[in-house]
Amino acid sequence: MKAVVFKKIKTFPSLEEVEKPTPGPGEVLLKVAGAGCCHSDVSVFQEYDEALAKHEHTEPSFILGHETSGWVEEVGQGVTGFKKGDAYLIYGPTGCGHCARCVAGEENYCENTATNESLAMGLGRDGGMAEYVVAPARNLVPLGDADPINAAPLADAALTPYHAIKAALPHLQGGGKYALVIGLGGLGQIAIQILSAITGATIIATDMKPEAIAKAEEKGAIGVKSDEHEVENILKITGGRGVDAAFDFVGIAPTIAAAQAAAAIGSRVTIVGIAGGKASYDWFTNSWEQELTSVYWGSLPELHEVAALYEKGLITPEIETYSMDNALDAYHKLVDGKLSKRAVVVPHMGE
Ligand SMILES: [Zn+2]
Ligand SMILES: [Zn+2]
Repeated sequence: MKAVVFKKIKTFPSLEEVEKPTPGPGEVLLKVAGAGCCHSDVSVFQEYDEALAKHEHTEPSFILGHETSGWVEEVGQGVTGFKKGDAYLIYGPTGCGHCARCVAGEENYCENTATNESLAMGLGRDGGMAEYVVAPARNLVPLGDADPINAAPLADAALTPYHAIKAALPHLQGGGKYALVIGLGGLGQIAIQILSAITGATIIATDMKPEAIAKAEEKGAIGVKSDEHEVENILKITGGRGVDAAFDFVGIAPTIAAAQAAAAIGSRVTIVGIAGGKASYDWFTNSWEQELTSVYWGSLPELHEVAALYEKGLITPEIETYSMDNALDAYHKLVDGKLSKRAVVVPHMGE
């Protein structure tokens, strides 16, 4: 079968002919419906050196793709309850499976990462950027009758903002609350849909690009241009009080600073974007009892909730599709910043 393989440190992936995998005990073989291209793949193949790859368990070679959906093709030994042809989303993180975090479905926060063999599907172990993929049965989330191709990005591009928002819910409960979304790319746009679906908060959305702001406004957010008056304009909307929860999908020092400056007393500021910007915090500048935190991916139970919102039509990822033969084009465009929608590789396009 064809697959997009990350073969060597700091090397662009290649399209390879590899053997079709067979499911082992506790695993399921899926015929891939869609595989999303994520910017963290680019970090892994462009920026990670050997030491970091070893630390993160993302040493090549492996098949990329940590946002995957597919149809059940075959089950491994001991696996029951699955029907051939049924559509599933794959929960990406692969923890040890037995620590307190993992048994709670939080494999993204596995306590035994030092001894794990991989970080996740498509990050250390073979992922979904191929015609077929093998996943642990426990990682499969049913999609019912919902379209599996459009669903692929949910596994990361929706799960990550969903987790950030769920963790901030205590700050958004009640009337008259404000949520701030900074950075209106794929994750930011989905965050607006999730905030609308599960909170009653007024959503304020900022970006430098007017077309991204326009898209957010179509979803019901109040758009604010990210310029030198950004914080002032956000504060004005909240009557001077500030926002109750801020989500920074960029994560550079200026966006973190803007989130902190716009955040009310007792608020929560979540850094979601992995740009690595440094934050500062002091008694005089930050509003009192302002929490500052970061998140990484989300839990398996949360992916079930994301799938339920998708089935109800409350989350709709914007995608553009690529055939297997054009999969590397999608990654080139991602690297060059030329994608405006999530690229999803559809290996069985037209079948
Ligand atoms: Zn990702
Ligand atoms: Zn674990």
